[in-house]
Amino acid sequence: MKNRITLTISVLALASFAWLGFAKSTTSPSEGKLKVLILDGQNNHAWKETTPVMVDALEISGRFSVDVSTTPGNKGTEEEWAKWRPDFSEYDLVVTNYNGQMWPGDVRSSFVSYMKNGGGFVVVHAADNAFGLWPEYNEMIGLGGWGGRNEKSGPYVYFKDGKAVRDESKGKGGNHGPQHEFVVTNRKADHPITKGMPEKWLHTKDELYDMLRGPAKNMTVLATSPSQSTNRDEPMMMALDYGKGRVFHTTLGHADYSMKCQGFYTTLQRGAEWVAGEEVTIAWPDNFPTAEKTSPVELSK
Ligand code: ZN
Repeated sequence: MKNRITLTISVLALASFAWLGFAKSTTSPSEGKLKVLILDGQNNHAWKETTPVMVDALEISGRFSVDVSTTPGNKGTEEEWAKWRPDFSEYDLVVTNYNGQMWPGDVRSSFVSYMKNGGGFVVVHAADNAFGLWPEYNEMIGLGGWGGRNEKSGPYVYFKDGKAVRDESKGKGGNHGPQHEFVVTNRKADHPITKGMPEKWLHTKDELYDMLRGPAKNMTVLATSPSQSTNRDEPMMMALDYGKGRVFHTTLGHADYSMKCQGFYTTLQRGAEWVAGEEVTIAWPDNFPTAEKTSPVELSK
């Protein structure tokens, strides 16, 4: 009897191995890749031009497969909004290129629970202008600008004379001067995202956000750039924990030409790997910008 049971178990085990083998051979090419959902649809920036650059930046690494979910426009009807229900739980990480109308309540709550349960979130440039009055969103992004932000939103965070400062003084959140090329400084060489990043590199023409403020909880400033408006070093990249989830926030990326920079590409890829809870494996490429020289990239397709 005992032998028969063992035999039955062995046959079952063989059958399941065979089935697993079969399942593997019929899966799509996205097998093994991290699944990314980019959100767009409203932004005071040219999101129709910048989303394809982000898709390219992620997919060219071979590490990610990317879907895009586009909200209705700002004249969207209730019916159109009722149809926009992204299933965050299907994705290893969510990237936002959205700065517009508040999302429906059930989308907001499903996103918060996705993050609390270990989701990944990447915030790019003007997405940190969105949702000034949504507390959970502001905790996730750490710092934001515009959207009614002021001293009630949290401190200004910046570096002054090499030291991190949290500044509770009164005033608006969010500002920038004219676009220009600027140097990005690595402030956290032992963080998985910025480990091995040159200490200084020259970013292509972009808006340099300054005077951002927010709850700034569980937040590490990874990189800064010197603002000519505030005369202080302003956060350009941040890593945050939110519940069991992780957030990478880059303030870079005003326009398609600002994103077509090898510095933006590589840091976005590494930040995306980290928020997905993965070991960061994307290498720093040979053509990464240097302190003196930018490194423009063209779309791969
Ligand atoms: Zn901008």
